[in-house]
Amino acid sequence: MNRLAERIAGHIRAIGPVSVADYMAICLFDPQDGYYTTREPFGAQGDFVTSPEISQMFGELVAIWLVDAWRAIGSPAPVTIAELGPGRGTLMKDMARTIGRLAPSLADHADFALVEASPRLVAVQKDALRGLPGRFSWHASCDTLPDQPLLAAGNEIFDAMPFRQFVKQGGKWLEYAIGLDSDGALQFGIGTASLGVEALPPGAEHAPDGSLFEIGPARETMMAKVASRIAAHGGCGIFFDYGHLEPSLGDTFQAVRGHRSEGVLDNPGEADLTSHVDFAALARVARTHGLKADMATQGDFLLGMGLLERAGRLGQSGDAAAREKIAADAERLAGPEHMGKLFKVLAVSTPGIAVRPLGATS
Ligand code: SAH
Repeated sequence: MNRLAERIAGHIRAIGPVSVADYMAICLFDPQDGYYTTREPFGAQGDFVTSPEISQMFGELVAIWLVDAWRAIGSPAPVTIAELGPGRGTLMKDMARTIGRLAPSLADHADFALVEASPRLVAVQKDALRGLPGRFSWHASCDTLPDQPLLAAGNEIFDAMPFRQFVKQGGKWLEYAIGLDSDGALQFGIGTASLGVEALPPGAEHAPDGSLFEIGPARETMMAKVASRIAAHGGCGIFFDYGHLEPSLGDTFQAVRGHRSEGVLDNPGEADLTSHVDFAALARVARTHGLKADMATQGDFLLGMGLLERAGRLGQSGDAAAREKIAADAERLAGPEHMGKLFKVLAVSTPGIAVRPLGATS
């Protein structure tokens, strides 16, 4: 058992089992031993590679979408360009550079805001953006964003937020909790909370005992905060993550360390913990706030935004090896065998404005 596992076990001995959501929040954000607070998760040396870390083309195409949306809402100024969960700051860097080139008047009037929960990553992001033109500010949550139109983006933010799991037993949906086995090691068990039928997807009543359903109240709260700002001040948001467009049953809790998956209870704080994002649930929250919500696969979005043309142009200035690398990056981002299909995109916007369509859902 590592140090964080010992501490979690002590906590469970003192107050009883913890929910999956509490376990995840402790593992990811414990100030002394948490994953995002103390480790370097990203890149070849880290645990996983994200779309903006694969290629600058990702951030460039997201920036083009945001510039179009800004024009569609009447080019308001001042305006906030926010990124939720910016990791190493790569997406923000590529977006800010592209916006500066494509729409200097937007870049000049923009407040670039980074919403980041990990103080360690805030420092990494400040380093990454040092010297770039533009006004950058950091926020621990969306609550302190300026009261003005908002263009928001996020990649792999919702999957990193705590979620809860319910398992069907004797016809009831009971919450999974993490307790201790007879040797004092962490193990899954059944907690006390249950889930009402209204929260379950259609057909759940016919699912066999042992089926699992996941909900993400913290994710929905984050979406509600963004949506209510857009509803009040105008704007849009675009969010990428892996997950499903329809609510579905199943256990999607996973731990990844050194590009390999491992047991979610094996090494708390040392592995990235995620689960698939229920895009339909997030879209519902946005629509409840009166926004338009559209979804597509990442592949359809990127191809619709001109990924292949951009790759071709980038390749012109390089040699054959550079061209091969760019083509491989495009394939990783948009290919159905890679991130193109499993990853989805959700766009939310003020209704009645002509934001660029996301591409057909496949
Ligand atoms: N967007 C980056 C990083 C993804 S990892 C990329 O694509 O490479 C998830 C990021 O979200 C990390 O920066 C993590 O610290 C941050 N994060 C997780 N929960 C958060 C929350 N509730 N509020 C703000 N940031 C959060």
